[in-house]
Amino acid sequence: MAAAAAHQERSVGPVRPEVLYPLFRPVGALKGVGPRFALLLQRLTGPHVVDLLWHLPTGLIDRRFAPKIAAAPSGRIATLTVRVDGHAPPVMPRQPYKVRCTDETGLLELVFFHARADHLLRQLPLGQMVVVSGKVERFHDTPQITHPDAICPVEARDEVEAVEPVYPLTTGLAPKTLRRAIQAALDAAPALPEWLDPAWQRLQDWPDWQSALKAVHAPEDQAALLPSTPARQRLAFDELLANQLALALVRLHQRRLAGRAIAGDGGLRRQVLDALPFRLTACQERALGEIGRDMAEERRMLRLLQGDVGSGKTLVAFLAMLNAVECGHQAALMAPTELLARQHLQSLAPLAAAVGLEVALLTGRDKARPRAALLERLAAGDIQLLVGTHALFQEDVAFADLGLAVIDEQHRFGVHQRLQLSAKGRAVDVLVMTATPIPRTLTMTAYGDLEVSRLEEKPPGRRPIDTRTIALDRLDEVVAAVQRRIADGARVYWVCPLVEESEVVDLAAATERHAVLRERLGDRVGLVHGRLKGPEKDAAMAAFAEGRLDLLVATTVIEVGVNVPAATVMVVEHAERFGLAQLHQLRGRIGRGDQASTCLLLYEGPLNETARARLRILRDTEDGFLIAEEDLRLRGAGELLGTRQSGLPGFRVADLAEHAGLLAAARDDARLITDRDPDLQTPRGQALRVLLYLFERDAAVRYLRSG
Ligand code: ADP
Ligand code: MG
Repeated sequence: MAAAAAHQERSVGPVRPEVLYPLFRPVGALKGVGPRFALLLQRLTGPHVVDLLWHLPTGLIDRRFAPKIAAAPSGRIATLTVRVDGHAPPVMPRQPYKVRCTDETGLLELVFFHARADHLLRQLPLGQMVVVSGKVERFHDTPQITHPDAICPVEARDEVEAVEPVYPLTTGLAPKTLRRAIQAALDAAPALPEWLDPAWQRLQDWPDWQSALKAVHAPEDQAALLPSTPARQRLAFDELLANQLALALVRLHQRRLAGRAIAGDGGLRRQVLDALPFRLTACQERALGEIGRDMAEERRMLRLLQGDVGSGKTLVAFLAMLNAVECGHQAALMAPTELLARQHLQSLAPLAAAVGLEVALLTGRDKARPRAALLERLAAGDIQLLVGTHALFQEDVAFADLGLAVIDEQHRFGVHQRLQLSAKGRAVDVLVMTATPIPRTLTMTAYGDLEVSRLEEKPPGRRPIDTRTIALDRLDEVVAAVQRRIADGARVYWVCPLVEESEVVDLAAATERHAVLRERLGDRVGLVHGRLKGPEKDAAMAAFAEGRLDLLVATTVIEVGVNVPAATVMVVEHAERFGLAQLHQLRGRIGRGDQASTCLLLYEGPLNETARARLRILRDTEDGFLIAEEDLRLRGAGELLGTRQSGLPGFRVADLAEHAGLLAAARDDARLITDRDPDLQTPRGQALRVLLYLFERDAAVRYLRSG
C-alpha cells in the first residue's frame, strides 16, 4: 500500500500548496508589468513573482527631508512642494527645457534635457501645486533640480516623501518601474503558516515571514540594510533551513533503503598495493578505513571523498571498488565528462590488470553493437569494474549486482543524479569524489550532514609549482619565455580568458590566441574548447599527451581532471577573471610529474585590492583548502566557485560569509525535524512543506512517505 502510494506520488510529482500559487505566477502576470518589462525582470530576478521578493535592496534614498526652497542646501536630496509658474521650452538646439516653480521662499528651476513638451505640460500643469524630489543644485544662485527623480500631485506626497529602497538594476530597467513591480509582488505575498520552531523564533526575536519580507523591502536607515537585522536573518534562516531540510530528507530516504554489509577479505587490494611503487599516505589510509567501515555496515554508504587535485582520491576509490569485487559485487565509477571517463579508464586499467581484472567503459558515444554486447556482459556479471559517463544512468543499463558506485563529481552532478545511480542496484553504497576543496560551510550547503573523508596532504615527492603573476602588457616576454621552455622540451597549457556569459566570446578569444601563437611558435600548437566534438577534443588532448603538440591553447575545458604529467608550464590569460578555486583547479593540471612546474598568471591591470589579494593567495600557497577559505572570505560564497559551474546551491537571501552561524543552526534544526517528524506530518511539518516549495526544493518533498 505504502509503496504503491509512494509510486503514484512519484509519477505525478509533488503538488505545490495552493497558498503559494500567487507567488509562482509568471512576473508578467503582475499589474503594470508588460511583456518587455517582464523579460527584463526575468533576466534580473527570475521568472516568478516570488523571485522579486528575494531581490533585496542594497541601498536607500531618504526623501523625507522636505524644506522650503530657500532652505534646501545644494547637493542634498530634498522633496519640495511647489507651484508651477511657467514653462520655458528651449529656444536653441541643445538647450534644456526649464520649468519655473515657486514657494513662498523663492524660485526653483526644474531642468530637462531632451524633454518632450507635451509630456512635461501634463506632468507639471501650469498654476498647479506639485511635489518634486531630487538633488538640489545652484546655478548662478538659482536653486535647480535637473531631471527630478519624482514628480507627483500633492495628494500623492506621502508616496514620495519617504525612504526609497534602492535595488540592483539591469540595463533598460528604470528604478521606479522595478520598485513598483516589487511592491506588487509584496502585495501578492500571502501570510504563510509559521514553520519556525516557536522557541527558537522567540529567542531570536524574529518577525513572521510576511512582516520580515515587508521590513527588508522598506529600510528606514542604512542599518536596516545590514545582514544582521532580525528580518534579514529570518529570511536567510528560512532559506538555509529549506536547503538543509531538503538535504536531510534526501539522506533519510537513502538510509531507509536497505543496505548490506560489504567487507572483502582484502586479497585484491593487497595485490594492488604490493604492485604499486609507492605507499599510501596517512590520509589515504584513514579515508580507506572510513570507507571500509561504512561499507561493512548494514546500511547504505553515502560518503564524500574530498581532496585536492592529485591528492590520490582515484586510487582510494579504486581500492574501495576492489572491496566490492572481493565480495563478488560489481563496482562502477562515473565521471562528469567523456574525457575524464577515458582518463580514469587509462589509469585504472593497469592496476586492475595487476589482479587479473578488466575495466569496461560505457559512454554516450558507444556504437550500438559493442554497447549491446557490453550491457549483456554487465547484466550477466562478467564485468566487475565499469567506468563511464552519465550514460551509466540510462535505463537499459542493468548490473548483475552493483555494490559500489563511485561518482567523480567535480561539481557537475546534483544530489539527484547520485540517487539515480544508486538505484541501479539493490543496496548500492555511494562514494562521491570531489576535487575542489570546499570550505566546511559550503560542504554543508551542498551535501548537508554527509560523512566526509578528506585527503589533506599530497603524496610525497611532488615539486611545488612556481606561480608568478605578470601584467598582460608583458605578453611578448611571456611568449618568448614559453618558447625557451618549449625548446628545452616543456609542454605548455595556455588557458584563455573566461567570459561568463558567452561561450562564443570565450571561443573567439581562444581561436585568436591559437592563431597568434601558431605564428610565433610554429604548428605544434593545438587548440581545445568546449565546442569541439568529443573525438576532436580527444584527438587534440591525445596529441598533447603524446608530445605531438608542444602547446595547447584551451578554454576551461581542461579544468576538469585532465592528466598529462609531462605538462610543466601553464599560462592563464586574464587570471583576474577566474574564480580562485577555478584557478587552483586549472593549476592542478601541472605539477603532476616529478619535474618542476611553472604557472604564469597574466592579469590586466590595474587590479583593485581584492583582486590583487586573490592572486597573491594563489601565488603564495598550493593548499586548496586554504585557498577556498580565503576565497570565501574575500568574495562571499555566491561567487566562490561560480555557481553556474559549481553545482552548489546559489542562495538568494542568505550570505554564507555573514550567516554561517545560521547555517549550523539550520542544520541542527533539520536534523531534529527529520528525527521527530520524518514525513513532515505534524502542523509544523506541514508548514515546513510550504517552506520547501517556497524555496523550490520540491524534489525533496518527493522523498516523504506521504504527500
Ligand atoms: P586525484 O584523483 O585526487 O586527482 P590521483 O588518484 O589521480 O589523484 O593521483 C594522482 C597521482 O598520484 C597518480 O599518478 C597516482 O598514481 C599518484 N599517487 C596516488 N597516491 C599516491 C601515493 N600515496 N604516493 C605517491 N603517488 C601517489
Ligand atoms: Mg554498506
